[in-house]
Amino acid sequence: MDTEDLLLKLSDLNKTSQQLDTPESERLEMIESVSNYANQFILGLNTVKAFQEKEATSLEIRDQKRPLKELLDLYQKQVVETGINAASGKHLGYIPGGGVFPAALADFIAAVTNPFASVHYASPGAATIENEVINWLKNIFSFPDDSVGCLSSGGSISTLIAFTAARDQHKVKNEFIQKNVVYLSEQVHHSTQKALRIIGLEDIVIRYIAIDENHKIKTDSLEELIQKDISAGLQPFMVVATAGTTDTGTIDPLDEIADLTKKYKMWFHVDAAYGGFFIMTSKKEFFKGIEKADSLIIDPHKGLFLPYGVGAVLIKDSEAVLHSNYYTANYMQDGANEEMLKSPANVSPELTKHFRGLRVWLPLQMLGKEPFVACLEEKLLLVHYFRNQLAELGFCLGPQPDLSISYFWYPFEENIEEKNRDLMDEIHADGSVFLSSSIIDQRFVIRIAILAFRTKKETIDEAVEMIKRCLEKLKQK
Ligand SMILES: *Cc1c(COP(=O)(O)O)cnc(C)c1O
Repeated sequence: MDTEDLLLKLSDLNKTSQQLDTPESERLEMIESVSNYANQFILGLNTVKAFQEKEATSLEIRDQKRPLKELLDLYQKQVVETGINAASGKHLGYIPGGGVFPAALADFIAAVTNPFASVHYASPGAATIENEVINWLKNIFSFPDDSVGCLSSGGSISTLIAFTAARDQHKVKNEFIQKNVVYLSEQVHHSTQKALRIIGLEDIVIRYIAIDENHKIKTDSLEELIQKDISAGLQPFMVVATAGTTDTGTIDPLDEIADLTKKYKMWFHVDAAYGGFFIMTSKKEFFKGIEKADSLIIDPHKGLFLPYGVGAVLIKDSEAVLHSNYYTANYMQDGANEEMLKSPANVSPELTKHFRGLRVWLPLQMLGKEPFVACLEEKLLLVHYFRNQLAELGFCLGPQPDLSISYFWYPFEENIEEKNRDLMDEIHADGSVFLSSSIIDQRFVIRIAILAFRTKKETIDEAVEMIKRCLEKLKQK
């Protein structure tokens, strides 16, 4: 091709390809449409249902272009109006989501500016923001300055990173895998067992520790198991404790477990994905011992009310983290570590990634810490407010909760299990607020998990009204 042809062809291609760089007038129009849409969405949150059991359709990708307006309408109908409305305060099932507004702005800015946050040299500013978020977390959980951490997409990936470090520090590999023992509570989140499999520890021995009537790990039972395993020639490797279990919001006796893991030279992992941020509240004493953990996971997309897609992990032994995540770590001279640890990529499996530090950093800076703490305190009180109302309606309740999750069932005169399932179905069909169920102590129960920042006293009143309504309906059947 001679230069003239080449220039003609380039000019031709440019006419089409330059559409990717949206011109200013269209940019401003798009921002306005999206901003109006977001505003309408938030204004409508109080009137839409928390749950709509519907299939999503018409979302296949077509090659031809379509106007933003049409796509926003499609999004509203097929995404927002199907399933659980996780941005609403009426999501009181599983672990509720968040989505404080400044985080959305942070995501927008991160996407427009697109800095390479994983490598300090490529973006000292973005990498420093990521690291400052980790420093803030270290401070909250009283982790030492020389511990390391990274922001992940959520609790499950954080667990993978923590367990990999544990595995590498204890050299759990090859024929030793089957000799090592992990101790869990029945109430542990399923991402724990999943992580063990993913990182190649499927054949490790898993022991389930007995729990008490408040669903907390019994430390005497734990020590018995450990001693038995040692006598049998096995190697106690790791204990996983939870600071806020998913089902019941229970905090295990962290301080006592920490002492045992120290005594038997084991790795101590704490799953604080849901409950961790309650350490900033009046419940602080429940978290005593968390600072002794070797690794800790925590989900800002839960207790910090941020949109889905940001978790965090803190780990004390930087060498163990570098072993798998920094390929040439073994050849680095001591002292070079400090510089090396400035790049998130060296302590995480991810290289190119979303600059998620900004969606934590910006809301915390714009709003300050106080409203986050107040919101958590509010959730703690709301669960008691809810329990008081249900007790008055004749419901049976689980034990006093440590945090903001509780469960209940109705003592129907016959077929208790079946009728409580029917009650759950009625509640889902009603959909004005969303609750979910579980099996606790072999009993079918309905759970309430209060963590959305938009959940208020009025939401709880609405939940109680709905439960009353569904119960009446059932009694009339
Ligand atoms: C949510 C949760 C997880 C898993 O975290 P994801 O962010 O959903 O991957 C792990 N442990 C506990 C206790 C949780 O509540």
